[in-house]
Amino acid sequence: MAFSHLSHVECPRCGLTHDADTLLNLCSCGSPLLARYDLAGVEKPDGPNSLWRYHQVLPVRDPDTVAAVSMGEGMTPLVNLHRTGQSLGITLLMKDEGLVPTGSFKARGAAVGVARALELGVRGIAMPTNGNAGAAWALYAARAGMRSVIAMPRDAPLITREEVEISGGELVLVDGVISDAGKVIAERLKTEDLFDASTLKEPYRIEGKKTMGYEIAEQLGWRSPDVIVYPTGGGVGLIGIHKALLEMRELGWVTGELPRLVAVQSSGCAPIVKAFESGAETAEFWEDARTIAFGITVPKPIGDFLILDALRETGGTAVAVDDEQILADQAETARLEGVFLCPEGAATISAVRTLRKDGWIADGEEVVVLNTGAGIKYPGIRL
Ligand SMILES: *Cc1c(COP(=O)(O)O)cnc(C)c1O
Ligand SMILES: [Zn+2]
Repeated sequence: MAFSHLSHVECPRCGLTHDADTLLNLCSCGSPLLARYDLAGVEKPDGPNSLWRYHQVLPVRDPDTVAAVSMGEGMTPLVNLHRTGQSLGITLLMKDEGLVPTGSFKARGAAVGVARALELGVRGIAMPTNGNAGAAWALYAARAGMRSVIAMPRDAPLITREEVEISGGELVLVDGVISDAGKVIAERLKTEDLFDASTLKEPYRIEGKKTMGYEIAEQLGWRSPDVIVYPTGGGVGLIGIHKALLEMRELGWVTGELPRLVAVQSSGCAPIVKAFESGAETAEFWEDARTIAFGITVPKPIGDFLILDALRETGGTAVAVDDEQILADQAETARLEGVFLCPEGAATISAVRTLRKDGWIADGEEVVVLNTGAGIKYPGIRL
């Protein structure tokens, strides 16, 4: 039995297939690419207590590469938020991604993306980031013996800068938002031997993030919840969870209706909510994007059409919440549940309140929210 059942890489827009054992960025048509597996013969996981238990549906071919790069990321707990759930008349479970190395779920994408890049001969990576992705990729690159060049907005959380610097990564601070950081990286890529690891511009970060979907189903005893609520920036986690659900359905690991997927954004940067509500297939660039939920400040996600597909195909929706409500729910959840959510995670609680109030979430439903990082990564945000 093969360690990885990776068969090829496919374009979700034009359908072109690509050789998975070459270095790939975007498709020739400009779309992000998705990894495909030969699912016949894939068995239910019995591996380590980390995301690598799903190695058969991950792209890394050599177990020694995993051993060299992994820091035990994944298999985070589903924590029952009893009091909040009870007051809303639902079962509310929070998947706590604050517990992975580097304190955000970005470690999942970095672990798998860096391991696969290492296997394919990459010696240095570059990317724009809102902070957490750059921090995770700089640290995992260090572990893999690779160089990293990370560009981030000057206002990104201070701790993420320090994570890049202490790992020996090259930190470039940019005035503006993540799309401005992207322009800096594009220039560097023209002249230097660096692999472009920008969000969805290589096919394997999403493979790491999809494991959140596998874990939720496995932790519920191989079934889906009614609703999964995700704080959406680039949307990689949401597209990844959707991909995992489709793969698990094909594998016969889950049956019946897929959970309704919900994208949560801040009202200060809500291009996906706007596109969803207007029925558009892609998002428009959001001008003057600004929110305290820094990880979801993405004015124009490159995978917008895939995010919108995932919402519509699952009967899901998109919700914008205000920063004041996010801060209120961050405090309320700490007080009621003893959990210090990151602001992006707190936004999912605000969204659940909104959707419960207008009846979109029904009485007694089971809802899983993703706390995508640790609240302690954002000192000073409440002052
Ligand atoms: C990056 C990030 C997000 C958004 O993730 P995407 O998968 O890019 O949508 C949410 N929360 C935190 C804490 C993040 O760092
Ligand atoms: Zn294509």
